[in-house]
Amino acid sequence: MPTADQKISISTPQEFSLAVLNWYDQHGRKHLPWQQDITPYKVWISEVMLQQTQVATVIPYFERFMQEFPSVHDLASAEQDKVLHLWTGLGYYARARNLHACAKKVSTDFAGEFPMSVEGLVELPGIGRSTAGAIASISMGINAAILDGNVKRVLCRYYAVEGWPGTNAVQKQLWEIAERLTPSERCNHYTQAMMDMGATLCTRSKPQCGICPLAPTCIANQQGNPKDYPNSKPKKEKPEKFVQLIMLQAPNGFILLEQRPQQGIWGGLWSFPELPMEEDALKHSQALVGDIATEQKIWPAFRHTFSHYHLHIQPVLIQLSKKPTTIGENTQHWYNPAEPSELGLAAPVKTLLAKL
Ligand code: SF4
Repeated sequence: MPTADQKISISTPQEFSLAVLNWYDQHGRKHLPWQQDITPYKVWISEVMLQQTQVATVIPYFERFMQEFPSVHDLASAEQDKVLHLWTGLGYYARARNLHACAKKVSTDFAGEFPMSVEGLVELPGIGRSTAGAIASISMGINAAILDGNVKRVLCRYYAVEGWPGTNAVQKQLWEIAERLTPSERCNHYTQAMMDMGATLCTRSKPQCGICPLAPTCIANQQGNPKDYPNSKPKKEKPEKFVQLIMLQAPNGFILLEQRPQQGIWGGLWSFPELPMEEDALKHSQALVGDIATEQKIWPAFRHTFSHYHLHIQPVLIQLSKKPTTIGENTQHWYNPAEPSELGLAAPVKTLLAKL
């Protein structure tokens, strides 16, 4: 239940931030791995991982990353495959590629030190305005606002902001509100508090208005319809795409993987050769490796959903009577499921490999 202190009337930015900070002091998260010995590097890695991903999922990824790459120089000098390998399962792989590119830039152009301003940070690959604000406020003590998904939700509900936050007009309005509310004192704690409130209290499907310090003056709460905010994205049917993934397996169990182009889906990750649905998988394999492709087994198809479309995947296992000598370019790799190499794998590929 809220304390007497929390039931203050919030009508000014100062009162708003005071209520948020009071709540943070009692309930905010202070023991997350990236909150210990805070550095811009740690905050940056955690912020990028937390985009579209929950804290509980991120923690083990973050810890593995820190173990492998304790500094921005370590990350900068790592092989891309190693970075993507440690990212496997987190999705949205452009984040990992940008992370790597950003580390290289900070390492070479800035001697390993992140620029000490939001303006400087947003110039780096993959760092948007909100991530820059989080790094600046949490690790540098700079008075900067953030507007990640959690904060957008809290602000949309508190002010009953109409319209889908993906539009420029709503974004602009929310940034104005976020900047107005961000206090000059304890900006680092306020930033963390707003993220925590969105993640633990003002959640998407179960806002806990009964114990929220903002409840007395939250417009959505007073209207009784918090879940109507933020307004949903206008519905658009996702297109459906269909593809075969060809799993060429040598007699020793090795499976052929190909590295995908850097651009496009699963950019830079390793996957099975892909084939349009209308093509014959066995004939295609025989054209590739000769008549050592002897047999095909069609596995159950399944669907993988991207942000912009659904991909229906038809896996086809092709047994080879011997390992071909014609395959082995840089972008091809014979993967040994018994001793897996450290490669970045697309999630459905990882699942299929586990079933082989
Ligand atoms: S009162 Fe409810 S809707 Fe308003 S900010 Fe708090 S949890 Fe969210």
